[in-house]
Amino acid sequence: MFCYQCEQTAGGTGCTRLGVCGKNENIQSLQDTILYGLKGIAAYAYHARQLGARNEEVDAFMHEALFKTITNVSFDLEQYLELVLKCGEVNYKVMEMLDCAHTERFGNPVPVDVETGTKAGPGILVTGHDMLDLYELLKQTENTGINIYTHGEMLPAHGYPGLKKFKHLAGNYGGAWQEQKKEFNLFSGALLATTNCVLIPPENTYLDRLFTIGVTGIPGATHLKSRDFKSLIDKAKSLPGLPEAPGKKIRTGFHHTSVLGLADKIVSLVNSGKIRHFFLIGGCDGAKPGRDYYTEFAEKVPADCLILTLACGKYRFNRMEFGEIEGIPRMIDLGQCNNAYSAIKIAQALAGAFKCRIDQLPLTLVLSWFEQKAVAILLSLLYLDVKGIYIGPTPPAFISKDVFSILKERFNLRLIKTPEEDLKEILHV
Ligand code: SF4
Repeated sequence: MFCYQCEQTAGGTGCTRLGVCGKNENIQSLQDTILYGLKGIAAYAYHARQLGARNEEVDAFMHEALFKTITNVSFDLEQYLELVLKCGEVNYKVMEMLDCAHTERFGNPVPVDVETGTKAGPGILVTGHDMLDLYELLKQTENTGINIYTHGEMLPAHGYPGLKKFKHLAGNYGGAWQEQKKEFNLFSGALLATTNCVLIPPENTYLDRLFTIGVTGIPGATHLKSRDFKSLIDKAKSLPGLPEAPGKKIRTGFHHTSVLGLADKIVSLVNSGKIRHFFLIGGCDGAKPGRDYYTEFAEKVPADCLILTLACGKYRFNRMEFGEIEGIPRMIDLGQCNNAYSAIKIAQALAGAFKCRIDQLPLTLVLSWFEQKAVAILLSLLYLDVKGIYIGPTPPAFISKDVFSILKERFNLRLIKTPEEDLKEILHV
C-alpha cells in the first residue's frame, strides 16, 4: 500500500511513521474512494457549468471532501463512510443539475433510431460526452456539406430535439472507447475529442486529423482553445470524403420523461405477469478480459424481462435484437453515464407505483465500472440505499477487503460471477 505522507510503501524500509500515516488501509481506501468520487462529480459539474448551471452546495462539498483526504486529518472510519455516502448524494444532485442543464438547452430527449454507417462526403467524428461542443460544431457546419457523426458516449445526442434538428447530424460511428484506435483509423474524416475517454493514436495513423478541446489533450494533435471550429472544418474539407456505407440502426433517447410516459402500461404489464423483472445493465466499458460477461448476461436475460442500459458498456449488446413486450421495447437505452439520473427517476417512479422501496422492486442493477464517474454513480446508488447491486468485472482495487465487507453487509453489494449463476440467483430459477 502506498503512503501519501512518506511517499513510499507504508511499513516499508524507511517508513518512519508506522501507525500514524497511511498505515490505516481502510481510511486510505475510503479517502481514495472519495477522491475518485470527486473526480466523477467534477466531470459532471464541469459539463453543467459549461451550460451555465452551478451549485454552491456542490462546490462547498468538493472543498470539504478534498480537504478531508489530506494526511492525518481524521482516523474515524464511520466519519469517512458518511462522507462517502455524502459524495453519492452530491453526485446525485450534480447529475440532476446536468440533466436540467441539458434538457433546458436541448429539450427532453425522445427515442430515436440512429444510423450507424457513413454517408458519402466529408465528415467529422465527435467523441467524448460534451453536448455543447457538438451543438456549436453542428451550428458552424450547417450548409457546408460536412456530415457530423457521434462516437461512443455521444450517441445519446441524437435524442435531443435541439441537436437532432440538424439534418447533417448523420449518425453514430464505432463503439466503446477501447475500440477507438482501430475505428478512428478507419474513419477517413476529421476527429474531435471533447472529453475522456480519448486514447493516444498509434504511430502514423490519425494524429494529423485529431483535434482536442476543453480538458482533452493529445501531444501532436491540434488543441482548440475555444469553440471556434474553423480549423477543424477546414481539415475535414481537405480530407478524402467518406464512402456511402449504410449500417444497422440502433435506438437511443429514452430519457426518463419518455419512459415515465409509458409508466401505466409498464405497471399493468408487471401486474399481469408479462414483465417479470427489470435489469439495468450498464456502465463503462473497458479493454480487459471479463467484460463479455455483460454481452452474455444481456443475451441470457429471459424474454419476459426488460433491459435498461446506459453509458458505453451498452455497445457490448446494443446492436442485438431484443424485441418488445406488448409494444414496450425490451432494450431501453437511457443515454450517457450521467443519465443514471434517469434510471434513478424511473426506479423511484416504479417504487411509488408499487408502493415499495427501490430495493423491493423486481429490479437488479448489473454494473460495469472503469473510470471515476462510474465510482461517483455507484456512491449515489448507495446513498439512495439501493441494495443488491452486482458490480464487475473486478472489484475496484482501491476498495480494501474490510471496506468491501462493510459495503457487502450494509448494501448487499455483490461481485459478478457468471451470467448463469447470477441470473439464477436473481430470478430464483
Ligand atoms: S461511459 Fe465511462 S468508459 Fe465509457 S466513454 Fe464514458 S467515461 Fe469513458
